[in-house]
Amino acid sequence: MKAISVSTFGGPDVLKLQDLADPRRPEAGEVLIRVKAAGVNPYDTYMRAGTYGAKNPTLPYIPGSDAAGIVEAVGGGVDLKPGDRVYTTGTITGAYAELTLCNRAQVHRLPAGVTYAQGASVYVPYATAYRALFQLSRAKPGETILVHGASGGVGLAAIQFASAAGMRVIGTAGSDAGLQAVTREGAQAAVNHKSADYQKQILDLTHGSGVDVILEMLANVNLSHDLKMLANRGRVVVIGSRGSVEITPREIMLREASVLGVYLWGVPDDEAAEIHAAIQAGLNAGTLRPVIAAEIPLASAPDAHRKVMEPGAHGKIVLVS
Ligand code: NAP
Repeated sequence: MKAISVSTFGGPDVLKLQDLADPRRPEAGEVLIRVKAAGVNPYDTYMRAGTYGAKNPTLPYIPGSDAAGIVEAVGGGVDLKPGDRVYTTGTITGAYAELTLCNRAQVHRLPAGVTYAQGASVYVPYATAYRALFQLSRAKPGETILVHGASGGVGLAAIQFASAAGMRVIGTAGSDAGLQAVTREGAQAAVNHKSADYQKQILDLTHGSGVDVILEMLANVNLSHDLKMLANRGRVVVIGSRGSVEITPREIMLREASVLGVYLWGVPDDEAAEIHAAIQAGLNAGTLRPVIAAEIPLASAPDAHRKVMEPGAHGKIVLVS
């Protein structure tokens, strides 16, 4: 099969298209999938660079965890059959490939009407958004949610979950295309996080009372300002951070606020089951509609890794085979 292989950590050009042996036949409880699309997530780039800490893979490896495609073969005891449309929440052998081997628990049915590119854009973004919004901040209908970095995969997923649940959503983006995506997907207001006065614009939208919940995609830049935009008993959920930041703890005390963090790979099984059920329901109902910004051929994976780290997000980047 053709696959992207990484044999040394480094920049995007260490992603090499190679002819590799197909994965082994699936054993009991395993599923072999013919991959039609693979989602590109920022953490794929941290792993490729060798900067992902505890979860750095053993070299060589095939990147990617979010795939969508068609079941090719199944091992014993598996309730799927060849031809079924599926998406993954992880793989055994890597998603940036024509074939990927998975455990049954990593494979979920792709509802009719959801494309493969969309299926490859489901798990990391939507599970992260759900966990931050419902399981950690415990956001409620009627509350005001600031999705700080709303134009990317996690942000657009959070807008869709929050608006379907009756929350008032303010989303930020840094480009016109991103701002348009934010309002199109359900935010009541979109604010450019590059504007000098964007924090004032957000506070004005709440008539000065502050937002109840902030989902933060770049905490090292924004956390100290976020604390000043919170309502009493407000919660900030740190989803992304690319460095350190100084904060004034008094801003937390004054509001009896909370700062929480998400780690998608540490979710207990019972809460993961809740996440899968919510995603399946939303995909079936059409309230969750993954937004695709670009479909890029598998061979051009280096371009996809460059693109996902550039400003101007307006949906997901997926690799297609
Ligand atoms: P993405 O699709 O690349 O989107 C990145 C988002 O960050 C875009 O909306 C971008 O907006 C925004 N952004 C850029 N500069 C910003 C600023 N100064 N203030 C606020 N937002 C800014 O990435 P993603 O998949 O949504 O992931 C977002 C972050 O969460 C990444 O750092 C990722 O590694 C992390 N993450 C963490 C977990 C976890 O378990 N903790 C899980 C999934 C993702 P513009 O491009 O419009 O400027």
